Amino acid sequence: MQVAIDGPASAGKSTVAKIVAKKLSFIYIDTGAMYRACTLIAKNHGLDYGDEAGILAAITPGSIRFEAGQDEQRVIVEGEDASLAIRTPEITANVSQVSALPGVRAKMVSLQREMAGTTNVIMDGRDIGTTVLPHADVKIFLIASIAARAKRRELDYAEKGIHEDYDKIYQDIKLRDYKDSHREVSPLRKADDAVEIDTSNLNIEQVVAAILDVIAKKQKISPK
Ligand code: C5P
Repeated sequence: MQVAIDGPASAGKSTVAKIVAKKLSFIYIDTGAMYRACTLIAKNHGLDYGDEAGILAAITPGSIRFEAGQDEQRVIVEGEDASLAIRTPEITANVSQVSALPGVRAKMVSLQREMAGTTNVIMDGRDIGTTVLPHADVKIFLIASIAARAKRRELDYAEKGIHEDYDKIYQDIKLRDYKDSHREVSPLRKADDAVEIDTSNLNIEQVVAAILDVIAKKQKISPK
């Protein structure tokens, strides 16, 4: 079974996708982490974030990997645990430029399809239901107000010991939404057959329950 979860920045996709994956024993794939990893590779190699040829040459087989950690999946970039390094404000501010490069997208989409393989998978991102897994059994589109998302990101950063101003986060999210939904190649868009869930006023448990409900209706799979 394939479950696609798409939506704008900080709508809560990865938090709930991880929980749902655990409950159903599905493999979880965070495609945003992969574009963040590409951005970190560009930074590590001193490349301009628009240098498509340079970035593509720097991404070699195995340079972006997921590894099971103690309680969380780790993102390994060029052999180093980059789980935190891919979430700094600098990477966050530049990832939309890198993810808009057609060659980078083609490479990541093919890697994502390969990773999904034939196992039960839950994948989150921006173009999963429209491009990566267009035949996914379940498609969810998570949305939330910019204010709710900025508040969540501020707390997220605080937990990682990063202080970032709320207004700056708000503007960054707004800009990233714009860039992600206006790029030429597979922009952020709700698939016609996706179920939309507004998470602005829902807590994590409520969003998880809503998604499990959609999955259960689609196929008789019960959580552990
Ligand atoms: O989900 P997250 O905020 O970590 O994604 C980081 C960025 O990666 C997004 O802002 C977007 O530019 C890009 N992305 C994408 N397609 C995906 C997942 C993420 O373009 N499927």
